[in-house]
Amino acid sequence: MNAIGVDVGGTKIAAGVVTPKGRILDEVRYPTPHSPGTLIENIAKAIKEVGDGHEVGGVCLAVPGLILASENKVVFSANLHAIEGIPLKHEIEPRIGLPLTIENDGNAAAWGEFRFGVGSEADHLVFVALGTGIGGGVITHGVLMRGAQGSGGELGHVTIQATGPRCACGNHGCLEALASGSAIARRARELAIENPDSALGRLATRRQILGEDVTDLARGGDEVALSVLDETGRWLGVGLAAFVNIFNPEVVAVGGGAMEAGELILKAARREVILRARPPSRDHAEVQVATLGPKSGVLGAAALARDASSGEYLLGD
Ligand SMILES: [Zn+2]
Repeated sequence: MNAIGVDVGGTKIAAGVVTPKGRILDEVRYPTPHSPGTLIENIAKAIKEVGDGHEVGGVCLAVPGLILASENKVVFSANLHAIEGIPLKHEIEPRIGLPLTIENDGNAAAWGEFRFGVGSEADHLVFVALGTGIGGGVITHGVLMRGAQGSGGELGHVTIQATGPRCACGNHGCLEALASGSAIARRARELAIENPDSALGRLATRRQILGEDVTDLARGGDEVALSVLDETGRWLGVGLAAFVNIFNPEVVAVGGGAMEAGELILKAARREVILRARPPSRDHAEVQVATLGPKSGVLGAAALARDASSGEYLLGD
């Protein structure tokens, strides 16, 4: 049976009808409104529009933020406050006429990579997505780790440097504050001021530096831009080493927009994992670039919807 996965992001809502084998049959996108009423309306509209003409068994919403599963709601979302506190199942199900579940977006993307992407051969996967923030998810023994309340797997808010920069969550020195796309841009702006003659420094005199600029300039050989990505990779590796020690994964998948930089970040991250994680976990874990790109949320959410509707939590199609 096909299922609909909906990835609710800070700027857009992407909904897709997905087959059991992970093929997207149809996809629609809507802007993300930042008022609660219109947000619910647009999510329902996207689901109805994309599902039109398809046989669909269920829907899963991948939502940005911390979930309280027993109440089917998001209790905190740094990038989408409008979604906080809404009983999503109760509000949306009557409008779409299909069973609906919710999942954290990092968890859903991890499930996508596990079912259809870089982790499809593994039973133990750690996934982190380096975007504006850092999302993540953990799969052990083929089961998505949700924790007691559904808010587990928040890998981005593990403290890496106790006195480090302030994070969007209010804490200091989270992995997100040191290795996300936003952290790359922030560090690049600092180093641009210290190195006015670098390509990064020259760009900073013309406009504000974005995360993707750093990758472009690093590929062009700018030493300062390269050092920003190397430093990012080191912080990322400190986090990954902890995850390797805790979860003993077969695959550590790194995705998100900042992975455009690929090995320019991952090389340093792998080095740090080798230095800090302990054998035998250290030697077993393969740190790889995630393969589904921005589709992982929709694909993972759809697979979760199917697993929920079939009463099967694990691998059955
Ligand atoms: Zn944080």
